Amino acid sequence: MQPLKYLAGYPPHLQARVHELIAQGRLGAVLADKYRDDHAVRNDGQLYAYVQELKDRHLRKAVPLGKVLYDGKLQVMKHALGTHTAISRMHGGKLKASREIRIASVFRDAPAAFLRMIVVHELAHLKEAEHNKAFYQLCTHMEPDYHQLEFDLRLYLTQLEVQSLASPGRAATNPG
Ligand SMILES: [Zn+2]
Repeated sequence: MQPLKYLAGYPPHLQARVHELIAQGRLGAVLADKYRDDHAVRNDGQLYAYVQELKDRHLRKAVPLGKVLYDGKLQVMKHALGTHTAISRMHGGKLKASREIRIASVFRDAPAAFLRMIVVHELAHLKEAEHNKAFYQLCTHMEPDYHQLEFDLRLYLTQLEVQSLASPGRAATNPG
């Protein structure tokens, strides 16, 4: 059985189940059926507004947002699921934290729920640098379904990879 890189750390019986869905060619359909809603967050300006709106709703007191952008070079798994850069700058002698949020561009074409999940993940990092208990509590506070969405996102990324291996050269953007 080939290891599933997006699902490393999950129990073997779950991974076996996913292998089964892949072998049956059903993983894409299962996901497309469960996640039918697209989103309209197409560019960096819209992404900024989207992130700001979620932040205002849940994390009003956290440090102000810095840059927010889609990044085509970002590897989703490089830093768990996104990157979060803490940049501290000196402003008139006072240390001011500003945060840049980069979202891998694969999320531009992903279902709406996965964009929300990854933004929630990055917003939680405004308050917690580590993936610890407090971090995941923040995530589930903003998105009660967070853990299920993170798991399903890993399935989605697995499916994109399966698809691109099946038809090399064609960009895989849709699990359908
Ligand atoms: Zn993280």
